[in-house]
Amino acid sequence: MTHNGINFDTYFKNYPDPKGYFGKYGGSYVSPELQKAMDEITDAYFTICKSRKFIAELRRIRKEFQGRPTPISHLERLSNKLGDVQLYVKREDLNHTGAHKLNHCMGEVLLAKYMGKKKVIAETGAGQHGVAMATAAAYFGLECDIYMGSVDIKKQAPNVARMKILGANVVEVTHGLQTLKEAVDAAFEAYAKDYENSMYCIGSVLGPHPFPLMVRDFQHVVGIEAREQFIDMTGELPDAIVACVGGGSNAAGFFSGFLNDPVDIYGIEPLGRGPKLGDHAASLKYGKEGIMHGFNSIMLTDENGEPAPVYSVASGLDYPSSGPEHAFLQEMGRVKYDVINDEETIDAFFELSRMEGIIPAIESAHAVAYGIKLAKTMGKGSVLINLSGRGDKDMDYVIENYGIR
Ligand SMILES: *Cc1c(COP(=O)(O)O)cnc(C)c1O
Repeated sequence: MTHNGINFDTYFKNYPDPKGYFGKYGGSYVSPELQKAMDEITDAYFTICKSRKFIAELRRIRKEFQGRPTPISHLERLSNKLGDVQLYVKREDLNHTGAHKLNHCMGEVLLAKYMGKKKVIAETGAGQHGVAMATAAAYFGLECDIYMGSVDIKKQAPNVARMKILGANVVEVTHGLQTLKEAVDAAFEAYAKDYENSMYCIGSVLGPHPFPLMVRDFQHVVGIEAREQFIDMTGELPDAIVACVGGGSNAAGFFSGFLNDPVDIYGIEPLGRGPKLGDHAASLKYGKEGIMHGFNSIMLTDENGEPAPVYSVASGLDYPSSGPEHAFLQEMGRVKYDVINDEETIDAFFELSRMEGIIPAIESAHAVAYGIKLAKTMGKGSVLINLSGRGDKDMDYVIENYGIR
């Protein structure tokens, strides 16, 4: 299939290019010292990811430890209530640890093991990436240092406890605003000092090459399973697919199964409280081209070109940029990026819980809200939504701030 001059039959061979660019987005913008470490990871990944042993081990882990394949569920009651469009969800909430993040963390830490590393290093904001990393490190018996700002440590006590129980070392970052940005800097610094013994694991399709490529590849399983399962269930492809976009990992993996199909694809960003800078995290919609955290993409910046403050009711979506592949797919017009605000998200959170018995993560509820909107405008057809995670982590927050609806 060709779309705006891009041949999607050969898309995965050509994008990213050998330097990690999707069109003009991506690349690697780091210090020479860190570049050495990135080159080592790139070389190792391109060798190891083709080895039969690595592929077989990852397959076995997905099946026996993560519980894959995750099913697709037909949202029958909700669909009937809305009209003739049939809604379906891909159940990444049923992946071990309750979200899609473990798909790439198991891949990254398995790669670290094959590279002979003793330790993995990562940062975390809300703690979801930290918990998935701590889980993977425990499974493989590697040391795990998770950098986290003091403010986030106080806010995310249950996830901090989970990481500690899993044996990870939570390193408190006490300077600056003591949140995610400082944690990223501190983790990168620690890694640059010790990259012979350790590997840095990024939590989404972000950062310098090869991470946007590698994380997408490890999430590809979601799109492959979903396509096959949907055709098995219904005899055809869905008319549209939807996923939420923070950094963009669950969307990248899910979309990758359908890029070469006649399927409309929607990536949903958080509009938060509204379109004013600081009130949302809809970087692809309101941002512009720039460089941060080692890569070129579309991003939200302040007047000094620094990452702008962002906000969303979903802590997993409040990042001031999105992966370079999303910037590219938007520019090519292959994926349409749209927004959903906090209120619509909370409505969808309760709607899915009440109508279907599935409590979604607030992140995933953005995609559900958009799927419901689509169903109301399409008239007929089918929509497959990626339910990136479960909402157990969000229940206290929702009740405290919104009450029971
Ligand atoms: C972290 C997270 C996200 C956002 O990350 P992406 O890289 O954009 O997928 C979405 N949903 C859930 C459940 C998450 O934990």
